[in-house]
Amino acid sequence: MNIAIAIDGPAGAGKSTIAKMAAKELSFIYVDTGALYRTIGLCAKRNNIGSKDAEKILEMLKGIKVELAFNDKNEQIVLLNGEDVSSLIRTPEISMYASDVSAIPEVRAFLLDLQRNMAKTNNIIMDGRDIGTVVLPDAKVKIFLTASPEVRAKRRYDELIEKGMEVKYEDILSDVITRDYNDSHRETAPLKPADDSVIVDTSGLDLQQSVEKLISIMKERM
Ligand code: C5P
Repeated sequence: MNIAIAIDGPAGAGKSTIAKMAAKELSFIYVDTGALYRTIGLCAKRNNIGSKDAEKILEMLKGIKVELAFNDKNEQIVLLNGEDVSSLIRTPEISMYASDVSAIPEVRAFLLDLQRNMAKTNNIIMDGRDIGTVVLPDAKVKIFLTASPEVRAKRRYDELIEKGMEVKYEDILSDVITRDYNDSHRETAPLKPADDSVIVDTSGLDLQQSVEKLISIMKERM
């Protein structure tokens, strides 16, 4: 029986960085489900489809294939019709596209089996918004990771600046607040802690402290 650990929480709470480090420590596979919604967003943008145009997006889904794979460093890559789009999906514009398309129930249904199948064949740490509530309701450990919007925006800002992108902190903060609102107010699979999750606020913790805290929760509950 494989072990699944679900980490949910708002944008910029540190889910992916922390989950990646914890997965390494536990020798689990790390799955970033946001990449899947970003890929659908990228595909809509490439086809000049509005991010809220559900009808056209559903039509688009019929003709595309989204897959998760792992490179030789065991890092996740995401394939859109066989093309590795992993780096193309990491822009603020695609973040907003992803947030919009993820509110469409059929988009969520389209990605559900792919996510569940990953958990059938591997010990995984999966991060997202609805992993503990919808995708893997039987996950052994559920963590809801959060931090204040300002702290999350600053982290995202630093990350993008380090990648050489030209961004403004105020824009990132406003994106974070908009995405939080969209993610927690949509009808299907809104962002919320599962009843049986442990809530961890990382606002006052640095990366190392956050990782240690999560690993100790995981080990205690596994
Ligand atoms: O985690 P990340 O910021 O890459 O996710 C991008 C967007 O995808 C989020 O703002 C959210 O709207 C959506 N998402 C989701 N459910 C998930 C993962 C991501 O709705 N499990």
